[in-house]
Amino acid sequence: MNFTLPEAVLETLDKFDSKGFEIYIVGGAIRDLLMGKIVSDWDFTTNATPEQILKIIPDGFYDNIFGTVGITIEGFTKPFEITTYRTEYGYSDNRRPDKVSWGKILEEDLKRRDFTINAMAIDKNLKIIDLYDGQKDLKNKLIRAVGDPNERFREDSLRMMRAVRIAGELEFTIEEKTFEAIINNASLINKIAKERIKIELFKILKCNNPYKAILQFKESGLMEELLPELIKCFGVEQKSPSRHHIYDVGNHLLMALKECKSDDPVVRFATLIHDIGKPQTYKKLSTGVITFYNHEMVSTKIAINIADRLKFSAKERDKFVILVRFHQFTVDENQTDSAIRRFIKNTGIENIEDMLSLRVADRLGGGASETSWRLEEFKKRLTEVQKQPFSIKDLKINGTDIMKTLNIKPGPKVGEILEKLFNEVVEKKIENTKEILISNLKSCSINSPTKT
Ligand code: ATP
Ligand code: MG
Repeated sequence: MNFTLPEAVLETLDKFDSKGFEIYIVGGAIRDLLMGKIVSDWDFTTNATPEQILKIIPDGFYDNIFGTVGITIEGFTKPFEITTYRTEYGYSDNRRPDKVSWGKILEEDLKRRDFTINAMAIDKNLKIIDLYDGQKDLKNKLIRAVGDPNERFREDSLRMMRAVRIAGELEFTIEEKTFEAIINNASLINKIAKERIKIELFKILKCNNPYKAILQFKESGLMEELLPELIKCFGVEQKSPSRHHIYDVGNHLLMALKECKSDDPVVRFATLIHDIGKPQTYKKLSTGVITFYNHEMVSTKIAINIADRLKFSAKERDKFVILVRFHQFTVDENQTDSAIRRFIKNTGIENIEDMLSLRVADRLGGGASETSWRLEEFKKRLTEVQKQPFSIKDLKINGTDIMKTLNIKPGPKVGEILEKLFNEVVEKKIENTKEILISNLKSCSINSPTKT
């Protein structure tokens, strides 16, 4: 295997070696190096204790929780992280070791790592220490637990999410026994803090092929545990006379995700669950027609539950909920301008692009074509309507202009006039330009007392 190490990495190895300590590069860096990828995280392990590490790199900062010394290096986005060999014992809560102690030998440290491709080390002579056939698994594109997978997932059940996530990111397969162990232990994922689960789930959604990664998440049994509402969508038929659907609700949602053009995990997630309220609103009429009346409201409730459960940030939650709530927006050539304005107000200007992405994904994921002349027309009207002001603030004149032009003092009249001008602009009676608004002001219609 051919690779070179950056000068700063070699220097770090040398600093420890020259003081008589062992030091190795470990973790994802080796995996990335061997795959010819750019390494973003440089992690090291050493037999030096944190105090000894700090003596060798006095400008390092010590993280008490993980016993890691970090050091910022110019030209590298993430600090180098140097950790004393660790051994971990007893995982009675399925999420973290009861006890961590400094190990004496590298082998102990590699043994506690999650997957074979993450459990290799490289020394200063570029020799690869590979006790678990990580190179072979890397070549065969396999994610395999180090040691007994059942035991490893029982120790720390987040590893199950990591397996699905890393497989998705690298487009690898989870080795059979490892995958079986995830299925067997899936319910243990509930022991893990939701913040950590959310991070992994978002990374799964960010994969190049989120459809494949989410499918694996489903087949592993983890979706059943974490998104039970989504599992309920599978098998819910929506094919009916005169309706275009070709998939059941669950598969339609997966197909929509597959077609989603946005790479924002929030948009992808919203696309994946936009119809999640359908199972609860399913009705089959005597004509054979299936309806899901009001499903977007039920979907919205579930979206709120999911966002809160998984501890989304306020910003992520707002966007997620809006996308689900308004995904059923009407696209109709006979729509009034005010209906379109309402759509923009509900969705928020900043979310329009994503709302349209969801609609396109929804169409494609339901077997329809990417767009229609109605949708294209709707997009044009969205642009047109946005030229009109949305509030008095968007008018091209303000209160000061009014007071100056009409030579009046501050008071409620100024507001009334602004309101009147705004309504006339919205009704397209006058144009929203400064000259036209001022000349209208001077004319009697706008200047006359308003009726209440
Ligand atoms: P990425 O940085 O892309 O997430 P990574 O493999 O570098 O991938 P990190 O979370 O940075 O993952 O962890 C660094 C290394 O620590 C891993 O390669 C693995 O050896 C080990 N590791 C991380 N989390 C666990 C875990 N839950 N159980 C066992 N080993 C772990
Ligand atoms: Mg890493």
